Amino acid sequence: MQPEKTIARFQAKYHIDENGCWIWTGSKYQSGYGQFWDGERYTLAHLFSLRISDITVPEGRRTLNTCGHRDCVNPEHWFVPAPKRGARGPITEYDDYDGWIEKRLTA
Ligand SMILES: [Zn+2]
Repeated sequence: MQPEKTIARFQAKYHIDENGCWIWTGSKYQSGYGQFWDGERYTLAHLFSLRISDITVPEGRRTLNTCGHRDCVNPEHWFVPAPKRGARGPITEYDDYDGWIEKRLTA
């Protein structure tokens, strides 16, 4: 559970564009991904967004983005691809989603 003030600080660092993307306005890594201080360490902003949305990214697993914006922190625009499918290529099929995130998306 993240402190309210940390979440408020996070929520002040993006704006929502016309596509529903939450575009990160805070600092970024050279790679273009958002960077956020969670009170203990710097983390990827979209990972923090997933974390506060109660989505756990398993250790060592990559996240993929569905909207093409690395600096988007909308948790709905990120997912962890199923291991058997690897982590390459555009993912558009619903069954590419992991069971646990599939459950969340249909909840
Ligand atoms: Zn997006």
